[in-house]
Amino acid sequence: MSQFPSYRGRMEYRCLGCQERYSIDELHYTCPSCGGVFLLEDTTFDVLRQHAPDWWRKTFDERAASKRTALRGIFRFYELMAPVVDEEHIVYLGEGNTPIVEASPALSRQVGQRFAFKNDGQNPSASFKDRGMACAFSYLKRLVAVHGWKEVITVCASTGDTSAAAALYAAYVGDPIKSVVLLPKGKVTAQQLSQPLGSGAHVLELPGVFDDCMKVVEYLAENYRVALLNSKNAWRILGQESYAFEIAQWYDWDLAGKAVFVPIGNAGNITAVMSGFLKLYALGIIEQLPRLFGVQSEHADPVFQYYAASPEHRSFTPVRVRPSVAQAAMIGNPVSFPRVRALAERYEKEGGAGAFQVVQVSEQAIIEGMLLANRHGHIACTQGGECLAGLLRARELGLMDPQELAILDATAHALKFAGFQDMYFSGTLPAEYNITPNPALANLPKPVLDDAAKGRLAEDEYTRTAARRVVEILGLSARQ
Ligand SMILES: *Cc1c(COP(=O)(O)O)cnc(C)c1O
Ligand SMILES: [Zn+2]
Repeated sequence: MSQFPSYRGRMEYRCLGCQERYSIDELHYTCPSCGGVFLLEDTTFDVLRQHAPDWWRKTFDERAASKRTALRGIFRFYELMAPVVDEEHIVYLGEGNTPIVEASPALSRQVGQRFAFKNDGQNPSASFKDRGMACAFSYLKRLVAVHGWKEVITVCASTGDTSAAAALYAAYVGDPIKSVVLLPKGKVTAQQLSQPLGSGAHVLELPGVFDDCMKVVEYLAENYRVALLNSKNAWRILGQESYAFEIAQWYDWDLAGKAVFVPIGNAGNITAVMSGFLKLYALGIIEQLPRLFGVQSEHADPVFQYYAASPEHRSFTPVRVRPSVAQAAMIGNPVSFPRVRALAERYEKEGGAGAFQVVQVSEQAIIEGMLLANRHGHIACTQGGECLAGLLRARELGLMDPQELAILDATAHALKFAGFQDMYFSGTLPAEYNITPNPALANLPKPVLDDAAKGRLAEDEYTRTAARRVVEILGLSARQ
């Protein structure tokens, strides 16, 4: 059995605004002096260079087979992630290690390119948010132990999946942690709402959109003793870096000729993916950075707008969002934008021009991306569909090499977004979405017999009549 790592780093919050550093023995979300966002840094990271890249590859590969639960999930990459947490505090609910599934041959042919989905919907609460929560809750358990806290109230605003993940991990950890989630009323799907309710969280609804809830949560975090679980919490970013580490590991640490597509909402995930690849690159564990494409809907595209301007004319302006089927990414003022700006600059410097780009896609392309994928045996959610739309868009713009392998982030399970599929199929999507359903893609259940037939017909009669109707509908021919 693999040993639990002995390395302990010295981690600090570093403000991206004024570069001030703060101790991790307190909860910090924004810089007390300038209001900037943080990244967590291991100030002894350079010590890790004592090991050759091959040692790291071998170590991570061995841990992938470990039966030690603390090393099964995202903490397999312990030294690169949060090397301050002790084994006893690590929370593992089966997150991470999600499959990379090659696009079906027919789908690949239709798109004109080899690509794969990494199914982060196969995490415990059915989205990638579990990666961040596993890390945030492990750190929180450590803090509770250090301070002897008797009660910790965790809060988050959510487009649906953050609250599902936060409530799940809080329910598992139990005392002294209590979970409160703030949701924009009517702006999360029924499935996503059922998740924190089922986990027993305190669910509060506000009129408005995610950005409105986020401001309330920020106010609470600044003025009251609560633990904020949005991606402003830099521990979540660390946990989500595991997504990048897993891609590298799956391809035997060779990312040449690969391009990764990630949908951008609050921009925590793209931050984590960049930071993760940059760490592997810094230690020589990968010799080449993959290209990275952020994808945004034209209904919520502030990051796309920023990068669409020429470098000397760039300035960040939040946008007012319009309804989006990629609802989990429907955010006009992404909290992590300063992190993206800082990391993208490094990513381009190390990876060369075009290493980081953002493409914009229509709502129509997003939902049809999801339907196209799922009709070929995939389980992409609308945001996964957004990534496929992004790949098609990048090809249209001539940004892809046909030999390149694209890896698309299917960030959640399709089932969470079944309501959008229903509305598309039944032609009931409100006009604001700007989507015109293609009747050829609609799939609705067909009635075989009218309801009264069940009472009217005797049992064999019912079976024979129903079977004859099925034969008619399908045009079956008899067995020879
Ligand atoms: C949260 C979420 C996103 C957006 O990720 P950010 O880190 O907010 O950019 C995309 N897809 C799904 C399914 C999500 O839950
Ligand atoms: Zn600062």
